[in-house]
Amino acid sequence: MRGDEQPASVRGPGIPAQVQILRFPVHDLPLPELVGLVQSWARAGRGRLHQIVTLNPEMVMAARRLPEFRATIEQADLVTADGVGIVLAARLLGRPLRGRITGVDLVEALAAAGDPELALFLLGAAPGVAERAARRLAARSPGCRIAGTWAGSPQPEESGEALARIAAARPAVLLVAYGAPAQELWIARHRRELERAGVVLAVGVGGAFDYLAGVVPRAPRPLRRLGLEWLYRLVRQPWRWRRQLALPRFAALVLREWVTQRLRG
Ligand code: UDP
Repeated sequence: MRGDEQPASVRGPGIPAQVQILRFPVHDLPLPELVGLVQSWARAGRGRLHQIVTLNPEMVMAARRLPEFRATIEQADLVTADGVGIVLAARLLGRPLRGRITGVDLVEALAAAGDPELALFLLGAAPGVAERAARRLAARSPGCRIAGTWAGSPQPEESGEALARIAAARPAVLLVAYGAPAQELWIARHRRELERAGVVLAVGVGGAFDYLAGVVPRAPRPLRRLGLEWLYRLVRQPWRWRRQLALPRFAALVLREWVTQRLRG
């Protein structure tokens, strides 16, 4: 085993080994395995909350500045490679991953599992968007159970209402679309309440409801395969340019680590 990997037993049963990308953990597992893991969490009982983070380079750069966000990522039960930048960095640094798992892929796969134990609650996005996304998911995956939807807001004064709705709906899975890092921090700050509400998995899903509801089109598949989703998003949503400045900075850090590795031999 390489020095930068951890044995699966470190985090619990079924959790795959992790690699480190710029000192952030990333777990290497395919989507079907991840869904199986969530099903096993749900079957093990409703007393323990698990958090999944779908990591992209913008989040890495933000977490380098925000200690609370870094701690949330480090303490997550699973961190998947979301952005293609993470996958490329892993390959360059000699720790290749089997693929990426985005928030929207994860939501679709959980719905498609059609597992009655995996009732979903969709929290976040603009008013009405979560409902539309839920309707589309239910139409596409008839076995999928929707426990509830609520737009809410990451503002602390609005948490009470969202938590009360979640507690009443008792979902096994909470999908939070407040954008990173607000969604990950919201989950981490409300761990106890979510556990009491019986939530087994909470995960930040970024713009997933916008895609599912058809409010924002997803990049065409060939562009996604080429790893150019970021370019499509930049053209469709030019206000993203400032956030995307993180991408070249991330690339520079990865290159620096690559050079350091080579010099060390
Ligand atoms: N959002 C929200 N409340 C906020 C800020 C954002 O509900 O205060 C939602 C927004 O409507 C969108 C999602 O959070 O549905 C974030 O989308 P974005 O594409 O920015 O996320 P990314 O995938 O880039 O993290």
